Amino acid sequence: MIGRWVRAFVDFVLPPACTICKCPGTVLCSECAATVTWVFGPVCDRCGRITEQPVTACWSCRQKPSTLSQIRAAVWFEGAVPELIHSLKYQGGFALANLLGRYMSEAWPTWAEPIDFIVPVPLHPEREKKRGYNQSARLAQVLSSHVNHPWNEQAIRRTRFTRPQVGLSAKERQSNLHGAFTADPALVAGQHILLLDDVYTTGSTLREVAQAALAAGARRVSGYCLARAK
Ligand SMILES: [Zn+2]
Ligand SMILES: [Zn+2]
Repeated sequence: MIGRWVRAFVDFVLPPACTICKCPGTVLCSECAATVTWVFGPVCDRCGRITEQPVTACWSCRQKPSTLSQIRAAVWFEGAVPELIHSLKYQGGFALANLLGRYMSEAWPTWAEPIDFIVPVPLHPEREKKRGYNQSARLAQVLSSHVNHPWNEQAIRRTRFTRPQVGLSAKERQSNLHGAFTADPALVAGQHILLLDDVYTTGSTLREVAQAALAAGARRVSGYCLARAK
């Protein structure tokens, strides 16, 4: 109830405008929304990359099986999406998190095995304090309410501060993150965990978090991202 009044007040003081073109009305106008493209088509069952026909494991998954059982994404990292994610990270509007979390629920895949709960990829506590929130946790919260699966922000924590992954090679990304995450065995043991992240690029972050969950006894780890880089 209070939330609704606060939101009505904020809307009154700051009427919603399109995140991209700033036209008044909604958080994303229909013209800008039309540039969002869904990940659609036959995919590798494991890593989720687009393939000519559905395959249980693509060439790269056969060469080097990932620690994640399945990886999926809702939309491509193109059109309005990069700017929407940037805005979600640094301006943090709840309206935008609601929209993007809904995108994730609309593209919710059928998992080979039912998931137990959703875990947002954690930020380091210092970074979270500076930013005020974890953007993946906001998405997890919205998605969780739509798909009726619980989410848990405490199950996995980032225990080591790492420099941003941007501009690093795949190898550097992996060593930058090595040992950065710790999972709580009391929460993850025996569970099928769905890791949630905003963007999937090389997958190094998801792999490293999955490693921590498996080391703490998780039965299976899958990953779901809002957007995937082409
Ligand atoms: Zn617009
Ligand atoms: Zn694959």
